[in-house]
Amino acid sequence: NTPTSYYLSDCPSILHRYRPVSRFAHKGTQGHALIIGGSYGKMGAVVLAAKAALKSGCGLVTAYIPKCGYDIMQTAFPEAMALTEGQEHITKIGFDMQPKAIGIGPGIGQHEETQQALHDFLKLNNTPLVVDADALNILSYNKEWLPLLPENTIMTPHPKELERLMGSWNNDFDRLEKMKAFASAHNLILVAKDAHTMVVHGGTVHINTSGNAALATGGTGDTLTGIITGLLAQGYNAVDAAIFGVHLHGLTADVAVEHTGMQAFTASDVVTYMGKAYL
Ligand code: AMP
Ligand code: MG
Repeated sequence: NTPTSYYLSDCPSILHRYRPVSRFAHKGTQGHALIIGGSYGKMGAVVLAAKAALKSGCGLVTAYIPKCGYDIMQTAFPEAMALTEGQEHITKIGFDMQPKAIGIGPGIGQHEETQQALHDFLKLNNTPLVVDADALNILSYNKEWLPLLPENTIMTPHPKELERLMGSWNNDFDRLEKMKAFASAHNLILVAKDAHTMVVHGGTVHINTSGNAALATGGTGDTLTGIITGLLAQGYNAVDAAIFGVHLHGLTADVAVEHTGMQAFTASDVVTYMGKAYL
């Protein structure tokens, strides 16, 4: 077992990772985030991720989606640009622009053509990457593709996705050892989502303290993907984006429940209240 350093992420300890917006910023300097995802019946996931990316402070967001989601995206989120490929699921991933960060997976589904598209994309891509949801599941079924990920790729599995990626664990200590081994073996930043989300990287584990059980509702993970991708696009390094993003996401829920209550909180409230968490 390699020695491990443990840290708690609370407000004071993450503040040094925060990058204030320059007085001379413009949308070109604030970073362009690309969110790839969506399929028929799962467009909400990619809308939420794209909105959360912009709300994290980046300058531009493009959503890469199947054609069936075009009107949905342009209507639900007029601030985003949209690129389409495939009818009801993504069949190819290619674009002639240079986003500063890419988030892939929310709502993307597991269609065979989408799996092939992901493989072809990974072979060419070296833009900083956040991998979530069905993109993670596809990688779980094709572990030989893991070496294609750029160094410091951020993965954001929930417990079930984590189990698919690295196998089951016997207890919390065993889970931690497996997470450290998996993150080190593939040079990844592993964001293991839970009530206390852990960011595992090299020999360090950052345990998050913000957030609450109101987040136990559909779509909140998609907003985390958007937040971390948006931070990466703004120039946060991958470790800072993961740790700061996880904390900001939880803090947003803590602020939001003061207004919505626990039960009525929804993933859209992450988008609505993120500004208050930044304050
Ligand atoms: P997903 O399952 O992908 O939608 O992700 C759920 C998100 O909600 C993750 O960021 C979790 O860390 C968070 N979450 C779920 N349940 C709780 C909880 N009881 N306390 C704090 N955060 C939670
Ligand atoms: Mg999810």
